[in-house]
Amino acid sequence: MNQDSFILIQIVVPMALVFLLVYKYIDVRTKTTHFVCPACRSRFKLSKKEFAFARKTGVINERVATCPVCNYKGSMPFMKD
Ligand SMILES: [Zn+2]
Repeated sequence: MNQDSFILIQIVVPMALVFLLVYKYIDVRTKTTHFVCPACRSRFKLSKKEFAFARKTGVINERVATCPVCNYKGSMPFMKD
């Protein structure tokens, strides 16, 4: 096996797989869940990009997000649609 194909198999392929898995996870999450704002009770969805960069709070099914209705920013739970 030459050096190039070694790098491809050991590094590039696993990285691509991880990226695809993360992308798929975010895709499914954003499609099947919604956030509920604790301040105004409105329900909203985050885009894939917003969800990917939303900070985790340490609590399962909770992220730091900004409500598009009242602009409240803080940790809020997300749940299945
Ligand atoms: Zn709100």
